[in-house]
Amino acid sequence: KSVRLLHARIAPVGPRYVLVLCDDHTEARRVEDIRRDFVANVSHELKTPIGAISLLAEAVSDASDDAEAVKRFGERMQRESRRLSSLVKEIIDLSRVQDDDTPDNRELIPIGSILHEAVDRSRFAAETKRIRLSLAESDEWYVSGNFELLVTAVRNLVENAINYSNADTHVGIGVRQEGEMVAIAVTDQGIGLSKEAAARVFERFYRVDPARSRQTGGTGLGLSIVKHIIANHGGEVRVWSQPDHGSTFTLVLPIGEAVHDDPAEDDQAE
Ligand code: ADP
Repeated sequence: KSVRLLHARIAPVGPRYVLVLCDDHTEARRVEDIRRDFVANVSHELKTPIGAISLLAEAVSDASDDAEAVKRFGERMQRESRRLSSLVKEIIDLSRVQDDDTPDNRELIPIGSILHEAVDRSRFAAETKRIRLSLAESDEWYVSGNFELLVTAVRNLVENAINYSNADTHVGIGVRQEGEMVAIAVTDQGIGLSKEAAARVFERFYRVDPARSRQTGGTGLGLSIVKHIIANHGGEVRVWSQPDHGSTFTLVLPIGEAVHDDPAEDDQAE
């Protein structure tokens, strides 16, 4: 292993020996670099909508006798403020899931209930694009975790599938067992991703096409939130994609044991 020696102290110990104390700051330096990067990205991302709102406010006061222009600028200001508030919300969500490696309120949850909730919350977005959502049966599997966080993870995938697909297409959610794990796969027939892009989509603030993401209200944080939530639940995320054909994003989670509380079963056991 290569170690960057940032700090060494040497002290004589008797006539024949010296004590050399080396501090390995490599990991601390790496974490510090990531933190500095994150703060720089956050500042940059926040400055864009704030700058736009301030310019638009100026434009509104300059155009005060042109009702049509005031309306147009006002609408753009609303759009930028919505973007600003979704950015702030996602930054807070991300820092919460990053710091937390033991999800609160862990419970045993049937996967079906997570998927139904995520699909219900994405239904409006799907309907506006006439995208058909289909959900596979998944009643036999349970996972142990935090219901709200897991719904957030699946919903982010479903909403991305909708955002990065054309109208009148299909988004499917499938579930299958992989040994001790259960895989939840969200498949779309959308624009897909190149190999290079697929390798980077889980990075914070990464967007293939920032202009398109801005239109859909994207922040580039959704998938890093998904990745952290799933890692906190002992799982992993995967992506498979083909440009112009579609993508499959998969969440793999450890299967939780269902607790049977059925008194009839206890009677039989006696
Ligand atoms: P965003 O808020 O921009 O959607 P995400 O972190 O959710 O950010 O996704 C990062 C980038 O990955 C997106 O900007 C988009 O370019 C790409 N992406 C995510 N999901 C899909 C998908 N289902 N199909 C194609 N591209 C996708």
